[in-house]
Amino acid sequence: MEHVDILIIGQGPAGLSAAIYTARAGMDTLILGCAPKVAGDYDIDNYFGFMESISGKDLIERGRLQAAKFGAGMRCDRVLGVHQTEDGAFVGKTETQEISAQALILATGVSRIRPGIDNLGDYEGKGVSYCVSCDGFFMRGKPVLVVGEGNFAANQALELTQYTPRVTVCAQGKEVSMSEEFLYRLRESDIPVLEDKVTSLAGDGGLERAVLDSGKELDAQGLFVAMGQASSSDFAYTLGLARNGQFIETDREQRTNVPGVFAAGDCVGRFLQISVAVGEGALAGRAAIGHVKERRRSA
Ligand code: FAD
Repeated sequence: MEHVDILIIGQGPAGLSAAIYTARAGMDTLILGCAPKVAGDYDIDNYFGFMESISGKDLIERGRLQAAKFGAGMRCDRVLGVHQTEDGAFVGKTETQEISAQALILATGVSRIRPGIDNLGDYEGKGVSYCVSCDGFFMRGKPVLVVGEGNFAANQALELTQYTPRVTVCAQGKEVSMSEEFLYRLRESDIPVLEDKVTSLAGDGGLERAVLDSGKELDAQGLFVAMGQASSSDFAYTLGLARNGQFIETDREQRTNVPGVFAAGDCVGRFLQISVAVGEGALAGRAAIGHVKERRRSA
């Protein structure tokens, strides 16, 4: 396993800004995440210091070069899950490896992907869940569905086999984008991957069935939502972070309620703008540096 001082999830303005501070302070820093949406061909007209406007692509590239100049490592690798170890460190599991860190900065932006199931909200807490490590235990031996098309969904489905052999993945009408390795592991674990779309849920009191767009019904006492890639909300569930809807709650220094975990940018949901993401990234970086130094002092 690779070890770093500070692991940053997200390579957008918030994550890069945090890395500039942490790496410049001599912290071994790794940023995970691929090009953010804003790194396309968009003109940014309202960012301080760029009167003639700058493309999102150029701004992000400058941020990347600046973070790299101070020694931050960066990789386009998706994080599937994170957990805290007994000694208060954190481990991030990606599609290719595991990385441990003394402090974690979440800068994952906002996820706008919804599964599009009519009455999903009616069954939240009654079978619908967003967190296998929180609720998988309650599904022992029961039929469960994982809704999602990518490696995140595959990983959630494989984790569920600790609790039940009756796991099905439903790609929710999207093209299945799982890697060969994950598809192989799903086959080995007898987990079918359906391309159908769940349109609504049924059951008295709790979830009992999922209704597909074909009209067919599947037995499902649990439904785990895992669309696209893991989002800050998914990490928040596993780490026990306080949230306000899909946004992570932090104090003014970008500290979450879990010591050692910081959040910045759109995932905090204050004002979804680059300038705010950059400012919050700087604060999160400073707070993370303080946390690592404190751990070193008390080691
Ligand atoms: P993001 O920029 O969204 O970056 C999130 C990062 O997290 C990405 O690198 C992503 O790959 C990574 N990530 C997410 N999940 C995972 C995972 N599981 N594993 C690894 N990495 C993960 N703001 C302005 O101020 N001015 C503008 O003109 C403007 N124009 C915009 C135009 C467009 C098209 C868009 C989409 C946004 C625009 N915004 C603009 C808003 C601005 O882009 C955001 O407020 C800002 O990018 C937020 O930065 P962030 O770092 O919090 O998140």
